[in-house]
Amino acid sequence: MDFVKEIEVLKKEKKAVILAHYYTLPEVQEIADCLGDSLALAQYAEKTDAETIVFAGVHFMAETAKILNPEKRVFIPDMGSRCSLADTCPAKEFAEFLKENPDHKVISYINCSAEVKAMSDVICTSGNAERIVGSFGEGDKLIFAPDENLGSFLVKKTGRQMLLWNGGCHVHFKLDEEDYKEAAKAYPEAVFIAHPECRESLLKHAAFVGSTTALIKYVENNDAPMFIVATEEGIMHELSRRCPSKKIMILKKRERKVYNCAYMKLNNLQKIHACLKDEVNEIIMDREIMEKARKPIMRMLSLS
Ligand code: SF4
Repeated sequence: MDFVKEIEVLKKEKKAVILAHYYTLPEVQEIADCLGDSLALAQYAEKTDAETIVFAGVHFMAETAKILNPEKRVFIPDMGSRCSLADTCPAKEFAEFLKENPDHKVISYINCSAEVKAMSDVICTSGNAERIVGSFGEGDKLIFAPDENLGSFLVKKTGRQMLLWNGGCHVHFKLDEEDYKEAAKAYPEAVFIAHPECRESLLKHAAFVGSTTALIKYVENNDAPMFIVATEEGIMHELSRRCPSKKIMILKKRERKVYNCAYMKLNNLQKIHACLKDEVNEIIMDREIMEKARKPIMRMLSLS
């Protein structure tokens, strides 16, 4: 079956759009109506007038699209597409943590469950996190969750002290300074850039630290001919498309041939086709949680 053709037909029939994250498979990125990072996808989801959204990403992203579009049908190609970072912040434990620190305002990275979002004052992505932190008054006590590396990066960048939840992404967290040193030894002339979910020991070597979109723009607008990028390897598809004449390498974990987000790679054309044709894997959520989680997401969007 020609899935690309069939998907196009079904999309028209069902007035559907496909949203895809940069970390998905190249063939999934190719058919997306909107390809982007978490912020761009949330912004698109808020504005689309499509009746159906198929979200090729991970579960919290599809949940966010549903929260922004409670009346629309939102599907995820594979219900197993979780996020290891979101999973490091169980709602029950987070609620206990907030109880212990009742006088704090809560900033949650978008990579968290709807329940955690519902307990937050505002959501952020790596693309707008500095601005969101800066939106709080000097006197406000802040909690940042769930990514500890991004939280530490923000503390350093903004000078604001924050209580940090101890969570992390298995892909970014495992990359270490030795991986960088090995790559830099092999390609000493390459410019090194990194995503803020990486550890501080890695970020300190980076010429630039930014969100997935910011990393792509940096490579695009920088005259250097060679780059090493520390993030998930799916970014390479868009980077190669936009910068065909540059040599760009993803920072690899030493002695590992494949190093990627297995959850993102669960999205494929066959499953997207099944979502559209058979209407499987629909995101169904509790109304009350959706309403509570919507407020901090809308606050983020208005601040972005
Ligand atoms: S790369 Fe990490 S943060 Fe991104 S979806 Fe995968 S597990 Fe979550």
